[in-house]
Amino acid sequence: MSLHHFALSSDHFYLKSYLSEHPDFLIIQDLDGVCMGLVSDPLTRTLDADYLQATERLAGRFYVLTNGEHIGPRGINAILQKQNLPESLLPGLAAGGVQWKDAGGQITHPGVTTAEMDFLARLPDRFSDFLHTMLPRYGFSPEAVAASVASAVLDNPVSPTLNLNVVYGLCNGDTDRYCSIQKETEAFMLSLLEDAGQSGLGNSFFLHLAPNQGKTNGTEHLAPASASGAGTTDFQFMLSGALKEAGVLLILNQVMHQRTGAYPLGQDFNVRSAPHTHDELLQMAVRAFAGMKLPILIGVGDTVTSTADGHGGSRRGGSDRGFLTLLQQLGEGLGTDAAVLYIDSSGGEVRRPGLPFPLPHDQGGLTGISDSDDPLQLNFVFPGGHEEYIRFYCELAAAAGNTPASS
Ligand SMILES: [Mg+2]
Repeated sequence: MSLHHFALSSDHFYLKSYLSEHPDFLIIQDLDGVCMGLVSDPLTRTLDADYLQATERLAGRFYVLTNGEHIGPRGINAILQKQNLPESLLPGLAAGGVQWKDAGGQITHPGVTTAEMDFLARLPDRFSDFLHTMLPRYGFSPEAVAASVASAVLDNPVSPTLNLNVVYGLCNGDTDRYCSIQKETEAFMLSLLEDAGQSGLGNSFFLHLAPNQGKTNGTEHLAPASASGAGTTDFQFMLSGALKEAGVLLILNQVMHQRTGAYPLGQDFNVRSAPHTHDELLQMAVRAFAGMKLPILIGVGDTVTSTADGHGGSRRGGSDRGFLTLLQQLGEGLGTDAAVLYIDSSGGEVRRPGLPFPLPHDQGGLTGISDSDDPLQLNFVFPGGHEEYIRFYCELAAAAGNTPASS
């Protein structure tokens, strides 16, 4: 049975066997929460050595797609360095699609200007100043402020971020206090976007909130803290066009070039110049890849949300939702098999909804994650989180790793 027919299946044995027999597949995978546990402080992340070895066996059929970065003090390369591993591991797209690591480990920023890079470089200092001013007003001690600034200001070169996980922890369950901090942080970040506009970079950036409650006209909605979790913890300043959806197309363009020698979307295709809406991206891809023999598309993520909107409907979001949905639609539109794999990352240090046990038959049973009308179908799920996924991945690489990708 083709993979797209499955719903909320935990039959990983079937999935592995199927992909071993149909080795022409392409895995596009998120990182945090998928192959690493979610942690409050990104500097404490580690990568599993067996998993990394397995990714090498699937070279050419495996690319990462993350809102984090390859480079910088909190990048994946720094983790690889610390573990004495080559920086060419985990090729693919970071920073939501603007930072490309090729198979040789070369990093480029397709479509990004020097003025944009310079503006971004100045932001981490402004984030620090903001926290130093705001947090004492919420009763934080000087020690707590210093600790918060050290872990919250992420000086990522192309996606500087305020990560409030530690601040949420220090609020000690005081949801109202954290909600006010969230709102103030959002307002501050929006004021930086206005500054960019005054510097002639009005269309260069946008604010990404993770997790969020969906978006309207490109503006993402803050997920306020509630009894069920922290809500939005990451306030990420991103380059416009840095959307994981567009990243899927860039990866597919590269993969098809390796196979056919031609770029279906053009050699200069990048996420900055790509259409910025989901529907336009889908239409463009269906036109460009029509008639080509595509691999089985496998999308892997852990951040998908759905909450009741109070009017009988649902507000859907999550930073993996868009790219997983697009990948599924590409499968339908182009007549190739596709599967979405959902990893439960609720067992980490960051509070978020987890998969219920036993698994429901309908996505309506996935409170906080999905709903019964969700257009995104989670074909396979990993209730055991990243550890269960890593075991599956290593077995898959052992079984399918040595078969030529295009056989
Ligand atoms: Mg993730």
